[in-house]
Amino acid sequence: SEEMLVRSEKLSVIGQLAAGVAHEIRNPLTALKGFTQLLQSKYNDHSHYFDIMAGEIDRINLIVNEFMTLAKPHFSQFNSGYIEPILQSVLSILETQAILLNVEIKVKLEPELPAVFCNENQLKQVFLNVIKNAIEAMPSGGVVDITAVLVADSEICIRIKDEGQGIPGELIAKIGEPFVTTKEKGTGLGLMISTRIIEAHNGTLHLFSKQHEGTTIEIRLPAQDLRQ
Ligand code: ADP
Ligand code: MG
Repeated sequence: SEEMLVRSEKLSVIGQLAAGVAHEIRNPLTALKGFTQLLQSKYNDHSHYFDIMAGEIDRINLIVNEFMTLAKPHFSQFNSGYIEPILQSVLSILETQAILLNVEIKVKLEPELPAVFCNENQLKQVFLNVIKNAIEAMPSGGVVDITAVLVADSEICIRIKDEGQGIPGELIAKIGEPFVTTKEKGTGLGLMISTRIIEAHNGTLHLFSKQHEGTTIEIRLPAQDLRQ
């Protein structure tokens, strides 16, 4: 039987925690960056090391900021956007990997889908995560089916379906929790972050999976009524 996963309460707790930690990390980082630059001007012969230190501090800052936007999505800019170009830009990034792994990606979008009120970069991140998972689930090739339809004139329903190994029943409840991964080089953050982003768009993300048969991710986003 198909199993379903919804986990919004746990996610919002994680989000709040992430925002709190991120905020606390930013102040000491600012001090570190300042003194690194100060020392750099004194120790000119070791300038290269200070460049590396400043660069790494910038990287921590970037990651921390990313967590903050995820945890407090109202800080990020939302605009009217269309699913098709967002999907296309993600597919162009994944094309090479798909060809290498013998994976065919079939896209069937209902014509003239309405816009969604969204942060395009965040939605790109979601599609990237989810389609990458689908490709990775089929190490010896297969088909990823991507469809999008308008439901009840009010919701865009996007499905990403693969014919990969699926997820065993006993594991399914854990999938989407941070750091839960079955991959050697996985982070186990992709689905957690994707779900949070979709929820910040007042949408839902559900996972349906059957071991040995495949997995479907269903994303629903409110359609924007441009007449309003
Ligand atoms: P990561 O990809 O880094 O492992 P994710 O959060 O994207 O982290 O996924 C968590 C886990 O969920 C994966 O390690 C995998 O076990 C499972 N999973 C996600 N998507 C699929 C899929 N399409 N098919 C099979 N398993 C999947
Ligand atoms: Mg992933």
